Amino acid sequence: MQIRGTILQTPDANSLQVLEDHVVTVDAGVITDIIPARADGATRETLANDTAEAANDTAEAANDTAEAANDTVETLPDGVVLIPGLVDTHIHASQWPQLGTGLDLPLDEWLFAYTFPLEARYADINFARRTWADMVPRLLSHGTTTAVYYTSVHSAATTALAEACVQHGQRAFVGRVAMDHPEGTPQWYRDANATEALEASARSIDAVRSVSGNNGLVEPIITPRFIPACTDELLTSLGRLADETGVAVQTHCSENQWEHDYVLERHGCTDTHALERFGLLRPRTVLAHATHLTDDDRATIAASGAGVSHCPLSNIYFSERVFAARLALGAGIPVGLGTDIAGGPEPSLLAQCGHAVGSSRLLERSATSSIQRIDIVSAFWMATMGGARMLDLPVGLLAEGNRFDAVAVDLRSVGVDAHGDQTGTVDWSRMFEQLVRRARPADVSAVWVDGRRILVP
Ligand SMILES: [Zn+2]
Repeated sequence: MQIRGTILQTPDANSLQVLEDHVVTVDAGVITDIIPARADGATRETLANDTAEAANDTAEAANDTAEAANDTVETLPDGVVLIPGLVDTHIHASQWPQLGTGLDLPLDEWLFAYTFPLEARYADINFARRTWADMVPRLLSHGTTTAVYYTSVHSAATTALAEACVQHGQRAFVGRVAMDHPEGTPQWYRDANATEALEASARSIDAVRSVSGNNGLVEPIITPRFIPACTDELLTSLGRLADETGVAVQTHCSENQWEHDYVLERHGCTDTHALERFGLLRPRTVLAHATHLTDDDRATIAASGAGVSHCPLSNIYFSERVFAARLALGAGIPVGLGTDIAGGPEPSLLAQCGHAVGSSRLLERSATSSIQRIDIVSAFWMATMGGARMLDLPVGLLAEGNRFDAVAVDLRSVGVDAHGDQTGTVDWSRMFEQLVRRARPADVSAVWVDGRRILVP
């Protein structure tokens, strides 16, 4: 498969790379070549023709497509550009039905009033399947080609989410939530005890991996909800499970003052150091929020290889502080972006880029702080490369050797003039900023995951 067009992406947190009119060659999901189109001499075909082919699932059509791929290039229409697929590093899949509502309470009350009752409903596998069937395609339509999901304590619902991701072609980490603390969770929604929670978590790893058709696109992830919801016994055993299996880990870390103070009181140290003692601070650990980190926490996280999922919109509702993205990046921590559905009421990861920049401007201006702002380029790097680096995934940048996860965005539909000024000079930097701040699913003309075109709603 070959695709011709202009690529906009961020190889590092400080630079926008524009590959104008290039041809990307993809073989078995892997990018084998990216070269300027003029040197390639390939024939032009329209995107619309191949979309029709991709929609056809029969074996015959698959053969035709394979043949066509050998001698044609899909050329993106004028005004359509290619960006790397987005990596959303923090999503509570089970909270999808309450997206956009229930934001009037502080975190500790929000959990018991709205969120635990909703999550308890995933004991009903049909409710789970209906939710996943709506959520996964919608997130793909936003350009979220990789999603890092928490589900609920229910193993069957968790496996069903992995099945939905495989079916719709979304790269994902799917984690059954472990939570057994008799005070931090309600009696009607928790694991019975640490042993059962550990056993269910271990079985869920196998179940996610064994989903029919899963060729590694969907991975399990060990998911202790957060320290207040887990006993020490459970946290210790899940740290051991991560060590034995090498499976990625996700949890919340120093999300807000209440939670941060609770851990200081219970463990006499910050979340970061408590998680380290439990063996949960490791490469491919995703720490959500981390708004209350100390300098020492940052150094500890950086040394461990773990990363932070920055959820700027959610933090506005549930934290008292802005995540100091500039300090975390400066400390060498891989930082990704997260929607934190449904603590964050907006499903678009591109929109989070704008929120991350806006929050950093507030932080820069606050009287007691001298923390520099970030810009759209840094935010987009987090939404792509930062998340990919944290999870050790070969995505986030369209480059030779990486998997082809990409999104085609129509700048004309966004409302951006892609033709440049009177001299024909195109200001790609300005256009990129407009794309990131303004593009919506209606402006997404195609999505690919692992080289496969995804049909989005
Ligand atoms: Zn969360």
